[in-house]
Parts: sequence; C-alpha cells; structure tokens
Amino acid sequence: MLNMMIGFFRDYFTYRKAAQKQQRWLEKYCEQKGYALNPSWMMTTSLKSNLCEMEATFGKRYCPCFEPSGDTVLDKKMMCPCEFIEDEIEEYGTCHCALFGPKDLSKEAWKASSKRLMEEYQVPKNLKDGILDTRGMPLDPRRKLPIPDMMHQVKSVLNGYKGNTLKVIVSREQEAKNLERIASYRNYRTERNSGDDAIEVTLYLH
Ligand code: SF4
Repeated sequence: MLNMMIGFFRDYFTYRKAAQKQQRWLEKYCEQKGYALNPSWMMTTSLKSNLCEMEATFGKRYCPCFEPSGDTVLDKKMMCPCEFIEDEIEEYGTCHCALFGPKDLSKEAWKASSKRLMEEYQVPKNLKDGILDTRGMPLDPRRKLPIPDMMHQVKSVLNGYKGNTLKVIVSREQEAKNLERIASYRNYRTERNSGDDAIEVTLYLH
C-alpha cells in the first residue's frame, strides 16, 4: 500500500500540469455524453496521470489500463474514450477503468466498479530473485489483452523496488517493444534476449 501511494504521488507531481489539459477534454466529453468522472479524487487523479504517461511514452492517448497491443485496429479502438465504453457501462456500471460512468450513477456503484478494477490489478506478481514473469494473466474479454498487462505489472513492481536490475519475461514482441519504450522514457538501459517461447528484457535501473 505504501509503495502504491509513493507511485501515486510521484506521478501526480510529474503530470499535474499535463493533467489539467486532460481535465478539459474529459469534462467536455462528459457534458456531451451525459457522463460523469469517478467522484473519487484518487481514482480520477491516478487515471489522469496514467493517461498523461501513455501520451508521453507512446505518443497517443491510449487507455490508461492497457498498453498498446501492436494491432493497429485494436489500438485505435483503445484510444480514450475507447470503443468499449457503452458496452462496459452496461456491464460494470462504468467503463473498464472506472473513469467514466453515467451522471446519475450511485456512489455505491462507483465504489463497486472501482473495487472491481483494483482487484483486477492488485493480483500477486510472479516475481522471484529479480525476475518478473509477466505471462499467464487472465485476458480481458473484449480486448483479449492481459489484465494486468506487462506494463502495469512492471510499474507496480518498480514502486519501492530496491534492486539494480529487473529481468522481465514477456511472451510477445510488442510487449518487449513497449517495455523498451517505457525504459527509454525513464532513462533505463535495457538488454534483450529472445528465446523460443519468451523474450527476456533486463532493465538496468541505476
Ligand atoms: S476504459 Fe475508460 S479510461 Fe479506458 S479507454 Fe475506455 S473510456 Fe478511456
């Protein structure tokens, strides 16, 4: 929990100016569609920081909950606000990330959807002796992408991580590319080793 809070405030201070720009389109979009933003300041602030980070790292406003897939059609659908929003509001009460929901959604329903999201992402990570194996997470039924994805697993492990290196095992080329982009944005050197059924990317953190 402490590490999560450290990550939250680090991102908040890094992106507070860029987040104001996000706030403008978010409010406009809500007004047009009859939606509201999650009333939890922490949830909305965290999602806005993630939107800023996606733009800064990948150049586009991808969904804060899913790293780019490498499939250009799907990635276009995943630009926020994504193409799944109405379907997901029907299923969860809010969009997948619990950022948008109907204006009249009850406090309890916002809380329930936020809890669902937190439970999806706060699963135990497969981390042992400085090696994080990101494979084998369940797939989101609409996007067919893992939850949590490689990016969220790595970010979560790095909050409070004390080692000098982190080896990350991924199953897809696109995940390795994404990790290298994230590392470059954070000024970490990387080294890649490709095997038959997995790719290992080492992050040099110091
Ligand atoms: S799930 Fe919500 S936050 Fe994520 S892209 Fe769709 S609308 Fe945006």
